[in-house]
Amino acid sequence: MRTAISRGVAAAGLFAATATLAAQESGIETFHVQGNVYLLAGAASNIAVQVGPDGVLVVDTGGEDTADAVLAAIRTLSDGPIRWMVNTHGHRDHTGGNTTVSQAGVTLNGNPAAIIAHEEVPTRMVLEDRPITEWPLNTFFEDRRDFYFNGEAIFLYHHPGGHTDGDIVVYFRGSDVLVSGDLFITTTYPVIDADYGGGVDGFIGGLNNMLDIAVPAWLQDGGTYVIPGHGRIGDEADIIEYRDMIVIVRDRIQDMIAKGMSLEEVRAAEPSLDYDTRYDAGDGPGSRDAFIEAVYRDLAQGGDQ
Ligand SMILES: [Zn+2]
Repeated sequence: MRTAISRGVAAAGLFAATATLAAQESGIETFHVQGNVYLLAGAASNIAVQVGPDGVLVVDTGGEDTADAVLAAIRTLSDGPIRWMVNTHGHRDHTGGNTTVSQAGVTLNGNPAAIIAHEEVPTRMVLEDRPITEWPLNTFFEDRRDFYFNGEAIFLYHHPGGHTDGDIVVYFRGSDVLVSGDLFITTTYPVIDADYGGGVDGFIGGLNNMLDIAVPAWLQDGGTYVIPGHGRIGDEADIIEYRDMIVIVRDRIQDMIAKGMSLEEVRAAEPSLDYDTRYDAGDGPGSRDAFIEAVYRDLAQGGDQ
C-alpha cells in the first residue's frame, strides 16, 4: 500500500505539494487513492473526498475540532462546490465536522451541502441531542442507493447490525474505491457497538459484501482499494484477513459458550491470543477485552432466543 500511496501522491503533482503544506499546518494529510478519490488522514476518522467537474463529495467529516483543517484540506484538492456528503454511520468521530463542511458547501438549490446517510443515523442523533445542522436529512431505508456524480456511479450499501445499525459502505465504481466506515479498520479489533445496534454476524456480513465488490489486480499494483474507517488504505487481501480473524475468534467463543463457560472463563481462555499483538487497542473500544465481551454477549444472547 505504501507504493500505491506514494505513486498516487507523485501523480497528483501540484496538489501533492499544496497538500503537504496544508498537512504541515493542520495535521491533516491528503493522499490520492485512485481515480477521483482522495483520503484525508489525521482527523478523528478517515475522510474520503471525491472531486471532479460536478464539484466535491465528502464521505465522513472527522471530529468537530478538526473541521476547519479538514475543510482547508478539501480546498487543496478542489475549489469546486461541495455538493454532497455521506455519513458511513453516526458516531461523532465520523460526523463531528458535518456542520462546518456542509455549511461551506452548496447544493444546486442553494442550500448547504446535502448529507446522505441511512435513516438510523439522524434517529440516533436526535436521541443524542446533536444540533440539527449535523443531521443527515437526505436519508434512505433500502438496502442500497445509487447516484451519479463526477462521471461515475456511486453505490451506498446498508449493512445493519455490524458496527452500528446505520452502517453504510460507499463504492465509487469508476474510481474503484470502497469506503468502509468502521466495518473495516486496520488499527484495532472491531468495535461492536451493541448500544448502537451492532453485532458480530452483521460485521462479518458487511465484510463479506465488501469482498463481493472488491477485485484484486493480478500480480500488479491496482485493483479495488479500500479506505478504512481508521488506519491505512487496504485492498481485498486486508479485508479477507480481517474477516477471517473475526470468524475464527467468533467460532472459538461460540464453542466456549456451548461448553457453558462464563464470560470470565472465556476471557481467561484467551480466544484471540494469536491476534492480540496485532489488534488489541489496550483498553476501551477496539481492545481485546471489549471485543471478546461484545462477541460473547451477542452470541450468548442469541442462544437464549
Ligand atoms: Zn464508529
